[in-house]
Amino acid sequence: MAEFTREQLHAYLDDALAEAEMARVEQALRESDALRRALRQAMQERDRGEHSLGAIWRRERLTCPTRENLSSYLFQVHDEARQEYIDFHLQTVGCPYCVANLADLRARQKETEGQAKERRKRFFASSASYLQVCRDPKKP
Ligand SMILES: [Zn+2]
Repeated sequence: MAEFTREQLHAYLDDALAEAEMARVEQALRESDALRRALRQAMQERDRGEHSLGAIWRRERLTCPTRENLSSYLFQVHDEARQEYIDFHLQTVGCPYCVANLADLRARQKETEGQAKERRKRFFASSASYLQVCRDPKKP
């Protein structure tokens, strides 16, 4: 069964999760009785005003890593403690802002990798024909 934190459920109720994450919660809700109970409980907490999500997110946002930090996280260049903190922020807190930010960074990284590969291919193709010309001076 997929596990979701209380914060994630509240974020779900607030429509604050990334689209893929919303879908994941909805799928899990269909399958899990326990999660439906947890969601009902979260809704009751909200009715009783025990959980002000706005306040929590504002507080959490203060601890959000910057986009540069997330990028470094993606390339795993932080020291272990920092890497773990961001891990915690993303996986355990499930901060929808940073999860979305990271997904965006990942997509861009992939795009850049694709472009680099394309450039290398073009470079090798052109230098291969150039080398051929050099080796065979008779060739036009
Ligand atoms: Zn965050």
